[in-house]
Amino acid sequence: MRKLMLLTISIGLCLSFGCAANPITGEDELMFDRDYHHDVNLGKEVAPQVEKELKGRIKDQVLQDYINGVGHKIARFSHNPDFDFDFAAVNDKSINAISLPGGRIFITKGLLLKLESESQLAGVLAHETVHVVARDTENMMSKQAGMGALFILAASQAKTQGEVAAADIALQLVTLQYSREDERTADLGGIDYMVRAGYNPNGMVETMQILQKEEASKSSDFFSTHPSPENRIDYLRARIQSHYSNSVAGTKVGQEDYRQNVLDRIKNLPDSPGK
Ligand SMILES: [Zn+2]
Repeated sequence: MRKLMLLTISIGLCLSFGCAANPITGEDELMFDRDYHHDVNLGKEVAPQVEKELKGRIKDQVLQDYINGVGHKIARFSHNPDFDFDFAAVNDKSINAISLPGGRIFITKGLLLKLESESQLAGVLAHETVHVVARDTENMMSKQAGMGALFILAASQAKTQGEVAAADIALQLVTLQYSREDERTADLGGIDYMVRAGYNPNGMVETMQILQKEEASKSSDFFSTHPSPENRIDYLRARIQSHYSNSVAGTKVGQEDYRQNVLDRIKNLPDSPGK
């Protein structure tokens, strides 16, 4: 969902910097030489600042538990369930979802209000879960000048300096663009996670259709950070047809659960529009 960046990795680069197999695609990728514990620490370090950048958590525990519950149902089936997954809803009105290295995932109120069912929510969270497991944010940052240094600062013991760096990272992460290839992998891998967790994979397609409508009405800045949903709908439909056409029956859509636990809860917040 972010600026097109093509990855050309030569064997020479892999040898000098170390490659790791991407758990989703199975392909070798140039990676920071770090294990996932490092990702978890980085994510924890900047999560409070990112949360602040996104106007803080929505103050409703029922809603938060529901979002986190759906997220964990999916994360259990991911290629690395040992990340420190935490799914939270934030007050930002933009239409977006953001994942930090290590498993902190945020979904905005703007996006929650556009969705209509638990399976659509599952589609968004599954997509972000793939970004975490594939370590896409880490990969992007390793190519972005200065980001690595910022992270080292953020994790440093120098408290004030660390906080300033964390705030900087937060700003950059909110607008970070992944490559189209990363997005495609997150879409297709996400569908796989959703189905394993018992959700109707059409939820992902519906989410893209909702985003497409938004794009047509130009009512969001979502498309500055995400590729157009149009061709994503095509390849998602093809994947459902080829892989899951026999496994859709009996999977969860959860329209009513979503209405009760998200839409009605947001409507009843003290600061909701019209109150
Ligand atoms: Zn994405």
